Amino acid sequence: MATRSGSPDPTDRTRLSPTELDAYDHIPRHLAKRVRIWSIPALPGPFTGMTMGRHIVLGHPVDRTGGSTLLAHELVHVRQWAELGAVGFGLRYLGSFAGGVRRHHRWMSAYRDIPAEREARSEAARWKRRHLGHHERPGT
Ligand SMILES: [Zn+2]
Repeated sequence: MATRSGSPDPTDRTRLSPTELDAYDHIPRHLAKRVRIWSIPALPGPFTGMTMGRHIVLGHPVDRTGGSTLLAHELVHVRQWAELGAVGFGLRYLGSFAGGVRRHHRWMSAYRDIPAEREARSEAARWKRRHLGHHERPGT
């Protein structure tokens, strides 16, 4: 949603709040500011979140105070998209997924084996370790 005045709407839940922008410091802030978050309560199968470019689609409500490991994970994908471009990201992602399906004969293992997913998991885990216990920092 946007307001006619063009000024940021503090109730606009599709954008990361200032608190979240401070919290998710594992991706460049200019990227985090452009992110839009959508809620679609019917993502297929085991998926809880999905990222396309700067759009993050969530299958269920998450913490919106800067403490969501799922958002931290999806934000890594936003950075990957920004670095590789949609075509680069898509080709690399699908290519490694197809290779993984051939190796594993199971698409879920193949999915977990995709380098972009490995990177997102480990960066989100590192973010969580660094972030745990001080996620309610006073404003900077
Ligand atoms: Zn992922």
